[in-house]
Amino acid sequence: MEHPAPDSKDWTWVLERPCPECHFDVASIDRNRLGALFRANAAAWRAILSRGSIVTRRPPSPDGTVVWSALEYGAHVRDVYQLFHDRVRDMLTKDGPTFRNWNQDRAAIEGRYQEEDPGRVAYRLAVTSGEVADIVDRIHGDQWNRTGARSDGSTFTVASLLDYLLHDVTHHVHDAEAGFEAIAEADAELADDLDSDGVDGDGTEGDEPPGDSMNGDELDGDE
Ligand SMILES: [Zn+2]
Repeated sequence: MEHPAPDSKDWTWVLERPCPECHFDVASIDRNRLGALFRANAAAWRAILSRGSIVTRRPPSPDGTVVWSALEYGAHVRDVYQLFHDRVRDMLTKDGPTFRNWNQDRAAIEGRYQEEDPGRVAYRLAVTSGEVADIVDRIHGDQWNRTGARSDGSTFTVASLLDYLLHDVTHHVHDAEAGFEAIAEADAELADDLDSDGVDGDGTEGDEPPGDSMNGDELDGDE
C-alpha cells in the first residue's frame, strides 16, 4: 500500500468524545462561531502551506507506512471542504439525501496531490472553506436538525456533519504540524550522524535535503 489512508477509519466517535490526538472537543463548539472557526482553519492551512519545500516532504514513519506530506493533507482538506459543502447544501434543499460515495484515497492518487502547487492549493482551500462558512453563517432554527445519510448507514444532522467536518480539517492541521516535527527530528539525527562519522568541514554538507530519497520510489519515478 503505497498511499496512506488517514481517514479510512470511522471518525464518527469524535461527535461523542474529545479526540486524544488533536484535542478537538465537540462539546466546546459554539455553533454561532462555526463559520469563524472554518475561516480560522483556512488561515492555519495558508500558514502551513507557505512553509516552503518542506510542505512537499513526506515524514518518516516508524512502521514503514507512507505518511502524507503537508501538501497532500492540504489538498485533501480542500477537497473535503468541497464535498461537505455539497452535502450540506443537499441536506438543506432535499429531504434526507444519501451522500454519494467518495473514495478519498483514489481522489488523492487521481488528483496527484503531491504534484500540486502549494500556493494554488492554499488559495482553493480558502475558496472552498469560505463557501462552507458562508452557508454556515446563514443556517438557522430547524435547519440545524435536517438530516442526511452516508452510504454506510451513518446518519447526520446538519449540525453533526459540520462538527464532523470541523474535526477533520482541524485534525489534519495537527497531522501536518506533527509531520513537520518528525521531518525536523529526522534531519537533526542525520546531521548528528554525519558529524559523528567524521565528515570534515563545518557540516554544511549536511544541508542537502535528506528526505528526497524517501520520495524517489513513490510517484516520481518517471521524472
Ligand atoms: Zn482529532
